[in-house]
Order: sequence, then C-alpha cells, then structure tokens
Amino acid sequence: MSIKVLVVEDEEAISLLLKYNLKAEGFTVTVVDDGDEALMAANEMQPDIILLDWMLPHVSGIEICRQLRARDETREIPVIMLTARAEEEDRLKGFEKGADDYVTKPFSMKELVARIHAVLRRTNPGTAVNVITFGDIAMDRETMRVTRADQSIELGPTEFRLLETLIKRPGRVYSREQLLDRVWGQDIYVEARTVDVHVGRLRKALNKGGLVDPIRTVRSSGYALDETYGK
Ligand code: CA
Repeated sequence: MSIKVLVVEDEEAISLLLKYNLKAEGFTVTVVDDGDEALMAANEMQPDIILLDWMLPHVSGIEICRQLRARDETREIPVIMLTARAEEEDRLKGFEKGADDYVTKPFSMKELVARIHAVLRRTNPGTAVNVITFGDIAMDRETMRVTRADQSIELGPTEFRLLETLIKRPGRVYSREQLLDRVWGQDIYVEARTVDVHVGRLRKALNKGGLVDPIRTVRSSGYALDETYGK
C-alpha cells in the first residue's frame, strides 16, 4: 500500500525511466500515454499524485489538468506538470489551470522525487510519506499497521482499505457504490450491504474500549470520516 503515482507521458523513454526510478523509491507506478486514459485512470485508481506531461497527443496536458480539476472525483489529486517548456508564461498557465508544481525537462530523478514529497506534504499534511494520521488515528501504508491513541488496532485488508479511503479525504461523504469501487474494485460484484458490514467491523475495531466513533453515517448517502474529530 505504498503511494500511488499516475504517470501520464507519451514518450516511452521517459515513462520507462520514471517507472523504474519511482518504483525504486517505493512508489506504486501506473503509466498511461494519453489524456483520455489519464482521466479514466485518475478516476478509477485515485492516485495520490499525478505526473502529467504537457505535450501529449490529442489533448494537451494542460487541458487534462483543467479537466481533472473540474471533476469532483479528481479535483483534489495533486498534479505535477512535466514539461520541456521553461518559459515563465507557460509556468503561470500551468498554475492557473490548477497544477501544484512544475518540473522542466530534463530533470534529475532526485529533484523530481523531492518535489513529489514536497507536494504531498503540502497538499495532504497528514501524509508523512507512508503514514497517514487523523486525530489520534495513524495508519502506515507500508507496514499496514494501524494505531489509535498509540494502541495497536487489528484490521482485515478490507477494513484497512476502507479506512485508507476515508482518511485521505476527511469530511467527504462516500456513497456505498463509491466505496465499493475504491475498496473492492470496479470489476467485482459485491452487494452494497457488504459495505455496511465492513464499516461495522471497522468501527468495532477502531472504537474498542468505548472510544468516540470517528465515522459518520450519512443517512441515505453513505459514510464519511467526521472532519471535526481530526482537529
Ligand atoms: Ca510528450
């Protein structure tokens, strides 16, 4: 459960290099080579960050960035633009369309990795690389350990992914269908009621010993992590 990076790059030499080096850094890397695929992959895999090439066939990276920002499902995913264009005006245009950072080709992998960590820290302050915290809850995505108030919590893999989904966007209400897509995957048929069962298990494990329930049930809508709890 490492950090998921979506690389959108049509030049194979560069995308292979990125994939190899980012994997070596412990990231999970998915590569697509055009904008439509990028939008689809961003929606489906909910990456932690997107590296987006400016010059893509069909639709430009900057337009993809705009579309990512226009959709609820992808608007909060941080984007670093990769580009050969070093001009100030282009840089500004990138930020205007919602890019979080900008790396000019050719770049060093060291610099890119540092930028990725910096953007993740800025956009999601709870994410210290692989550890996500929310209030007194901490989850380590590498070791899959979860603690609450420094006590270890035992979670099954489904409950872990459920908590991971909720904790990444506190306050956001997820419908059962959205949770099914994100936690179980889009190609698997599971009844919506199954979500309730696993949320129940997650609550039981998290709230052991009578701790305050941080999960909100939103009637007829779904579930959210109570954002006031994390403060
Ligand atoms: Ca390109």
